[in-house]
Amino acid sequence: MISFNVPPFVGNELKYIEEAVRMRKICGDGSFTKKCSRWLEKQTGSAKVLLTTSCTHATEMAAILSDIEPDDEVIMPSYTFVSTANAFTLRGARIVFVDIRPDTMNIDEKLIESAITEKTKAIVVVHYAGVSCEMDTIMDIAKRHNICVIEDAAQGMMSTYKGKPLGTIGDYGCYSFHETKNYSMGEGGALLVKNKKNIQQAEIIREKGTNRSQYFRGEIDKYTWMSTGSSYLPSELNAAYLWAQLEAAQKIYDDRMNSWNKYHDLLSELEKSGNIELPGVPEECKHNAHMFYIKTNNLEERTRLIKYLKKENIYAVFHYIPLHSSPAGKELGQFHGEDKYTTKESERLLRLPLYYGLGEDDIEHIVSKIKDFWK
Ligand SMILES: *Cc1c(COP(=O)(O)O)cnc(C)c1O
Repeated sequence: MISFNVPPFVGNELKYIEEAVRMRKICGDGSFTKKCSRWLEKQTGSAKVLLTTSCTHATEMAAILSDIEPDDEVIMPSYTFVSTANAFTLRGARIVFVDIRPDTMNIDEKLIESAITEKTKAIVVVHYAGVSCEMDTIMDIAKRHNICVIEDAAQGMMSTYKGKPLGTIGDYGCYSFHETKNYSMGEGGALLVKNKKNIQQAEIIREKGTNRSQYFRGEIDKYTWMSTGSSYLPSELNAAYLWAQLEAAQKIYDDRMNSWNKYHDLLSELEKSGNIELPGVPEECKHNAHMFYIKTNNLEERTRLIKYLKKENIYAVFHYIPLHSSPAGKELGQFHGEDKYTTKESERLLRLPLYYGLGEDDIEHIVSKIKDFWK
């Protein structure tokens, strides 16, 4: 059987978790959390990286930091995970969905400006499969209209746009370390803060609305309630797992990239014959091999292929049901303009197994079965 995903495990995770236990420090913001945050700051060049309990929570923090209020409008693609929208509807915002580009499945930057009204407070971009959105265009629009940009870079760690790490281009960037992502801590994430002036408020929101982070650094002699916040800091046990992964970041990256390239090479024949389409990666984007997907001609063909592969014990899966067609999406948002690609392309997309340690022979086997399907 070939699973769709296997959580990454490189070897030192248990050793570090045991260390955290023996140090008698298992709550948040201990030495492993610090090591991870510092590593991420160095890797990305971000002014501040705060480890969080999930990417969902990092996005909720970004929504609070961006001062999202009831009836504000927030622009985002409909083809995304529910957390991208929930973080903002929790604050009472309305969601304005914009169509995607068929080549990358990312928000179509050319359609954003016409969706902006005087109520628009933020643009949320999602870097699907770790391939960047067209950020220069998007940042230019945001600057001209004085609205903030939040990057849902849940899938984007170690990817770049024109050399810039994803998550560092907008005002806030959100990473996920869920077990399905390239680097994992079980459940977890990180918030990247671009502007120094927002760091202190981010720390307060993460620490239940208190200035406890400053207190622990010895900057103040007692801590108190400063503003609305929550508990967004992960346990040291989770951070210890992540530290082992970050130490092996390049190894994990190389392994996934080899698998991605192998899929791409072996499947290009089927693309040439017009049976499938392969993912597009614009020249200015360096991706991180988060996902390998193919597109079939239509929904019916995809359903048959999933069934066929399952019979062969290969687990390939479809992805997001567009949010604007969901019950909550209909109530809390609306689609701006025409849904030319969101529904159509989402129905064609099929994700193939891809995880750290997936064997080359497995990939050859999967591809041969996909080829058999079209015979
Ligand atoms: C995985 C994912 C999330 C949620 O991440 P969690 O860490 O599970 O909260 C949000 N957005 C996108 C695009 C994702 O892929």
